[in-house]
Amino acid sequence: METTRCPECGRPAELVDRCVLESTDGPVEHAHVRCVLRHRFWLPVEYLTREPGAVGTPRRTPVPAAALRRR
Ligand SMILES: [Zn+2]
Repeated sequence: METTRCPECGRPAELVDRCVLESTDGPVEHAHVRCVLRHRFWLPVEYLTREPGAVGTPRRTPVPAAALRRR
């Protein structure tokens, strides 16, 4: 199971699914994220926040509101 941080509340979130969506710039991989407070998002994987201790540099890129689509 992959984990990340909820873009809304910052709590731990589970990465429950991935898919590739077409965009004007070509296919973009999106991730379905569900946090412990049951916030759910589809967002591009480049906006995922890595858990501390994960391989790679943690990203702190702010997530544009337009990138978040609640379901
Ligand atoms: Zn949340």
